[in-house]
Amino acid sequence: MNIHEYQGKEILRKYGVAVPNGKVAFTVEEAVEAAKELGTQVCVVKAQIHAGGRGKAGGVKVAKNLDEVRTYASEILGKTLVTHQTGPEGKEVKRLLIEEGCDIKKEYYIGLVLDRATSRVVLMGSEEGGTEIEEVAANTPEKIFKEEIDPVLGLMPFQARRLAFNINIPKELVNKAVKFMTGLYNAYIDKDCSIAEINPLVVTGDGNVMALDAKLNFDSNALYRQNEVLEYRDLEEEDPKEIEASKYDLSYIALDGNIGCMVNGAGLAMATMDIVKHYGGEPANFLDVGGGATAEKVTEAFKIILSDPNVKGIFVNIFGGIMKCDVIADGVVEAAKQVGLSIPLVVRLEGTNVDLGKKILSESGLNITAAESMADGAQKIVSLVK
Ligand code: ADP
Ligand code: MG
Repeated sequence: MNIHEYQGKEILRKYGVAVPNGKVAFTVEEAVEAAKELGTQVCVVKAQIHAGGRGKAGGVKVAKNLDEVRTYASEILGKTLVTHQTGPEGKEVKRLLIEEGCDIKKEYYIGLVLDRATSRVVLMGSEEGGTEIEEVAANTPEKIFKEEIDPVLGLMPFQARRLAFNINIPKELVNKAVKFMTGLYNAYIDKDCSIAEINPLVVTGDGNVMALDAKLNFDSNALYRQNEVLEYRDLEEEDPKEIEASKYDLSYIALDGNIGCMVNGAGLAMATMDIVKHYGGEPANFLDVGGGATAEKVTEAFKIILSDPNVKGIFVNIFGGIMKCDVIADGVVEAAKQVGLSIPLVVRLEGTNVDLGKKILSESGLNITAAESMADGAQKIVSLVK
C-alpha cells in the first residue's frame, strides 16, 4: 500500500526524522491559509499523488508570496499530472502539500528496501540526490553505496556513519545524518514498510539534514496490525477495479492489454499471462480467484474483468483441484447473464468435475469457445481478439 508524501512525513516526524513544516490543502483557499499559517518567506506548493517525478512534470512550485501560492495552487489542483511513474494517462491532483521553502545546499538520496536475494533490509545512499535514482544505478552504479542490515542487530551506528562518509555528507553533519537514518530505519521496521525512499535528503544552509520528499510503501500482508497506516489509505489513488477485487479477496492487478484472464492459483495465472504473450496477445490483468472460490466470487471476478473497457476478450483457464470446475462454470454463466457478454470467451477447464463444468457451459446458450489445452486456449483467444 502507498501513501502520500505529507502522510509519510507525518510518520517520519514521530521517529525523529527532520522534515520541513507543512500542511495539507484540498482547496486553493486552504492552500493560501496554510501558507499564511506557516508564515515563511518562501513556500513550496506540492502536488500529492501516489507517484514520483512530480517536480519535472510541474507538480512542485516554489512560491515567493501568497499571490504566487494562490496562482500555483489553482494551477496544480485538478490538473492531471503525467510523470514517468503515472503512466501516460496521468493522475489528477486532489490534494496539495504547502511546505516551508528550504534553503538547499546539496541533495542526496537515501533509501531502505528489502533485498530478496539476501532476505535483509538494505540501506542505500548516494550523493546524486534529486535525480532519478534508476538513472544513477544504470549510468554510475559506483555512486550508490549500500549497507546490509542484520535483522537481529538492526542498523548499527557504524553502518550509518560509514554510509554518511561514503556519500560525502559534510563531516560536521554526520551525527545528524546518523540520527536521520536511524529514525528512518525504526519507522521502516515499526510500520512494516516495503520501501522507504527519501529523494532528496538535503543538507540545508543552516546546517540541518532533512527529508524534502518521502515515499513510504507498506507490506499489504501486515496491514492487519497497522491501523494507523490503514487510516492513511487514499482509495481515490487506487484502481477502482483493484479495490472491488480486494473486497472479495481476489488477487487482481490491472494491466495494459486487452485479454482478460481469469485463473486459479498465482502460478497458473503467471503462466497464463506468459502464454498469452507468447502467442502475441497482451493480458489485461492478473487475476487469481484463489483455491476455494464460490460461484459468487467467480461472478464478481468476471464482472471486474468486464468493467475494464480495454478488455476485448476473456480467457478462463482453470485447473480444478480444490476449486471445482462446475463452480467456475456456474460463476461464469451467472456473471454473463448479469452483465451481458458481447465479447469472445475462451474457456479451458481441467480437473475436478470437469465434465459437469463443460456441460454447464455448453448448455448455457452462451457463445463460448472451448479449449483443449492452455496453449490451444491462448491461441484461440489471441486470434479472436485480433
Ligand atoms: P518528486 O520526486 O515527485 O519530483 P520532490 O518532493 O522530490 O518531488 O520535489 C522535487 C524537487 O523540488 C526536489 O528535488 C527539491 O529540489 C525541490 N523541493 C521539494 N520540496 C522543497 C522544499 N520544501 N523546499 C525547497 N525545495 C523543495
Ligand atoms: Mg523526489
